[in-house]
Amino acid sequence: MTEHHRLPRTRDDWQALAAELTVERGLETRAYIDDAFVEAQRGATLATVNPATGEILAEVASCDAADAEVAVAAARAAVDGGAWSRLAPGRRKAVLLKLADLMAAHKHELALLDTLDMGKPISSALGDLAGAIGCLRYQAECIDKLYGEVAPTGEEALALVLREPLGVVACIVPWNFPLMMTAWKIAPALAAGNSVILKPSEKSPLSALRLASLAREAGLPRGVFQVLPGFGHTVGKALALSMEVDCLAFTGSTGVGKQLMQYAGQSNLKKVYLECGGKSPNIVFADCKDLDRVAKHAAAAIFHNQGEVCIAGSRLLVENSIREAFVDKVLAAAEAMQPGDPLDPASFMGAMVDRAQYERVLDFIRCGVEEGATLRAGGEALEGPGLFIPPTVFDGVTERMAIGREEIFGPVLAVFGFDSEEEAVRLANDSDYGLAAGLWSQDIDRIMRVTRRLRSGQVFVNNWAGGDQTMPFGGVKQSGNGRDKSHHSLEEYSDLKSVWMSLSP
Ligand code: NAD
Repeated sequence: MTEHHRLPRTRDDWQALAAELTVERGLETRAYIDDAFVEAQRGATLATVNPATGEILAEVASCDAADAEVAVAAARAAVDGGAWSRLAPGRRKAVLLKLADLMAAHKHELALLDTLDMGKPISSALGDLAGAIGCLRYQAECIDKLYGEVAPTGEEALALVLREPLGVVACIVPWNFPLMMTAWKIAPALAAGNSVILKPSEKSPLSALRLASLAREAGLPRGVFQVLPGFGHTVGKALALSMEVDCLAFTGSTGVGKQLMQYAGQSNLKKVYLECGGKSPNIVFADCKDLDRVAKHAAAAIFHNQGEVCIAGSRLLVENSIREAFVDKVLAAAEAMQPGDPLDPASFMGAMVDRAQYERVLDFIRCGVEEGATLRAGGEALEGPGLFIPPTVFDGVTERMAIGREEIFGPVLAVFGFDSEEEAVRLANDSDYGLAAGLWSQDIDRIMRVTRRLRSGQVFVNNWAGGDQTMPFGGVKQSGNGRDKSHHSLEEYSDLKSVWMSLSP
């Protein structure tokens, strides 16, 4: 697709652009392996469906172990050849900045592919893309500013600590932020000099394939960046079990994360970085000011991206003295966040990614009613054919209820009440997950006390989901062990080599 001179502004504009994204007009559906776009060796394909309409967008190559083997061999050859792994960091930076520029030049097309593929509103997809480009630029800019070390040892030696690429990195990513999650992995992995094999979700492969052609145009050498669409249990598993993959960088569910650690143990003890699920608490103390504003943020914290967000603020913990009034304000805010056509820039929520996820969310809603929580909003899917579920709010949730414990990954908010700071911290930490937590208060002593006690990879104080490229992103407990973004993620994609050089007296 050629980028139009006029900025798309209306739903009609976006629909017109979407009409151009067809296989007949060159939409890429093949895997990108060893510098070529190819069908899967066994000829298998998978259908990718627009969940807002039910229409099949394309049949995409569905790779398996045989394709993984070829890609891994090409990636290894690239590492050994050194055209990227031994290239001066400043020159890698230039290539990655060019890729970022190309993404920016094609931002409408890339955002649109994610919207069509997984149902998110186009305005959100554009925001994600800005984040993805920002991540690429940040990591590219970092790489020629990181120094190795001279260890402070005695005069008899010069002791160097060098940073070297890991080798072959397989990035396995989910569908909820297809390009942004991709960028969070591939940007530091490529910047650090690795060869990267990207396995996008089978539910959202299109933007990754477009990215492959941009990466080629930017000048990434052969075998350094490859894209293998396909299912997790086929190509994903083959990459995870490969003896020649040095690192798995994963974002997805906790269940699959656990499997990946097993695969690493069964194969070559590859490094495994996991960014997994969450059930994040958002704590509202009675002393916080401007409850209307806080309520809007609390609603957006769960309903943004249809609730399909790892850090969704899905558990709202409200001090009982303000709970009734506050929940009313959340309901009013949620009312303004109804799902709509993802191609309409005014839509705040879009469609659920696919029928399985849609049914799963509706099952949890039925379960919440059966468990005795009070349904205050939503609860019923909208008329088809699109897979739309409105903002759904349950009050009176307890930690024993499934809707209060399990990651639903949909627009379902569970409201808990608490009477003391102690109880708020106990409820917040009573979870298998530890990805994000929010707290709203004006009391700085309380803020610091509670922040320190929350078992969470990130804490948002008087905001939700704040952060930029300078901040590491990741979880504790069963939310994972990796850190995306910031220069800390670059460190994950390199090994330390200790060099002890004896010096004659
Ligand atoms: P998922 O775990 O089902 O799939 C993620 C990826 O893993 C997909 O590409 C899938 O094909 C692949 N996969 C599945 N089984 C595999 C296997 N056996 N071997 C190798 N690969 C396999 O997750 P999803 O449904 O795509 O995404 C939703 C999940 O992602 C949620 O749990 C969400 O919280 C999590 N998530 C976490 C973060 C974070 O940063 N912590 C960010 C976004 C999403």
